[in-house]
Amino acid sequence: MRISDNKIEEIRIAANIVDVISEYVQLRKRGKNYIGLCPFHSEKTPSFTVSEEKQIFNCFGCHKGGNVYKFLMEYEKISFIESVQELAQRYGVNIEVDEETTGKQSEQEILYDINTETAKYFSNNLLNSSEAEIAREYFQKRKIKPQTMRSFGLGYAFPSWDHFVNYAQDKKIDLERAISLGLIGQSNDGRLYDKFSGRIIFPIFSPNGRVVAFAGRIIEKKENSAKYLNSPESLIYVKGRILYGLSHSKDEIRKLDKAILVEGYMDLISLHQSGIKNVVAVSGTALTEEQVQLLSRYTKNVVLLFDADTAGIKASMRSIELLLKKDMEIKIASLPSGEDPDSFVNNFGREKFEEIIKKAQNFLEYQTEFYSNQGMFEDPSKTAEAIRELVKPVSIINDELKRSLLIKSIAKKFNLREKLLENELDKAIQSFGKQITNEERIRDKELIKKQLEAKLQKDRKISPREIRLEKEILKLLFEGKTEIVGFVFSQISPEEFLTEEHAKLAEIVYEAYKNNEEIIAASLIEKISDEKLQSFVLNLTFDKYSISRNWEDIYPGLPHEKILQKIAVDTVKRFRTEKINFEIKNNFRLIESATEEEERFELMKLNHELEKEKQKLNLNISIE
Ligand SMILES: [Zn+2]
Repeated sequence: MRISDNKIEEIRIAANIVDVISEYVQLRKRGKNYIGLCPFHSEKTPSFTVSEEKQIFNCFGCHKGGNVYKFLMEYEKISFIESVQELAQRYGVNIEVDEETTGKQSEQEILYDINTETAKYFSNNLLNSSEAEIAREYFQKRKIKPQTMRSFGLGYAFPSWDHFVNYAQDKKIDLERAISLGLIGQSNDGRLYDKFSGRIIFPIFSPNGRVVAFAGRIIEKKENSAKYLNSPESLIYVKGRILYGLSHSKDEIRKLDKAILVEGYMDLISLHQSGIKNVVAVSGTALTEEQVQLLSRYTKNVVLLFDADTAGIKASMRSIELLLKKDMEIKIASLPSGEDPDSFVNNFGREKFEEIIKKAQNFLEYQTEFYSNQGMFEDPSKTAEAIRELVKPVSIINDELKRSLLIKSIAKKFNLREKLLENELDKAIQSFGKQITNEERIRDKELIKKQLEAKLQKDRKISPREIRLEKEILKLLFEGKTEIVGFVFSQISPEEFLTEEHAKLAEIVYEAYKNNEEIIAASLIEKISDEKLQSFVLNLTFDKYSISRNWEDIYPGLPHEKILQKIAVDTVKRFRTEKINFEIKNNFRLIESATEEEERFELMKLNHELEKEKQKLNLNISIE
């Protein structure tokens, strides 16, 4: 179901966060904010804070935070859409849904119910029926405990023609729908039969833990039946949009900020059972863009597991490409020859497995080392080929700066000429179909050079004072006052922030401001995908010390708005002054090392201008 962004915003505004949270947590007022005992972790002194003004909450203990939707999602373990629906209902906001979607909604619910009922049937067969001995043996051989079977809803379909058909009839399950879900088949003469007959069953869950489909695996190899049978796509199941195990692993993936990607259902289940829970499996299909998108909501860090004896990277190249396109950080871990994750964790245990994950390499390093081990860089004719293969994935990365840095690091590490790599990269980018005109390319290159220089400069010298100033500016940007935001951006552009995270955040506010969107923290926070950045903003906006305190002493009785303006003007001035000071200092350094008299003179002239500019700041920067 699709709810428009405007509606989502309307509902958020209608649902005052203090009112909503008060229904779950006892809040009391302290200063401008409300505090209470955090419902997400156990504590004796309250560190859970709610801001009515900014419509966000934040816990200083466990760092959970966000807007009203996030609170409901976390507290009630529901999806974003569900939290929107719930608040819409509570606050009487009408979510306009046309007849058709309403119909579909309830149709979906019916299908979910059928699947749930069926999953119970399969599970009950496996756990309790004497006829399921063969299936239980299968799992026992693989050291799967009954509790794990329950947790993943594992099941068994009797090897009968119509056992499930009869069950479905008894339970008054709509047979047409059961056919559409692929649970029941219909022969040419109209007879109904069990689709999964004789298979062990893996229910497939949506991220919220609802059964959307089934995978059935044969136990004994038969001539003419496929090893796996999967439910067909349906109203509730689109193959490429589900990652197996995500419903079980999402919390751990978030917590560890890392996901391990495996191939099979059993790999995932075995790892889970041994305590490695940040795992998802791409069963049934090759990895899709939607799956990557889905995963990227939980983490940007992915470890791919390879068997040592397969062609490894080459076989997974498509997956790697998809992950790179979404700016995921990819690492490669390889298992010893002859092992898959399931067998490895059963044979060697959790600690050894974790060691392997810890040793995972950046995918480029892995690939380069692979070629290097094959001696390809010693043979000039093969070097060219290896380099071509190497830069191919790099050309996919959207972030040009990241691309350049990667090229630099490969060149350095394996003693290859950077220029050679760059040329190949250019070719790869062109053949990759990025239609960039020559002019744009030159401009981009210059931009990259500038960015690189800027970055190198950044890495060397960001003073604590600069960091503090940037934070103060960001704090102002997240105050939710359009006038202040407009003023700041009239004087400072987002790229001027030296810290990458700060620049990113400024950019987000800038975009919203430019598009006349809400610039209140509660809605800006929706646009920040990185959890760490989210919590950074929350901490910033909830910062215990208030920047306005001293100012309130200086201007007693002045309204808050006016004080904010004064702070903004002052902070922007200090920010600009700092920039000029840096430039002056840099010029002095250049003057010392300059060899030409003329150059030295030019630099001194420049510094003189900069000094004048600094003095004028007081006159030129004002809010009215
Ligand atoms: Zn907490």
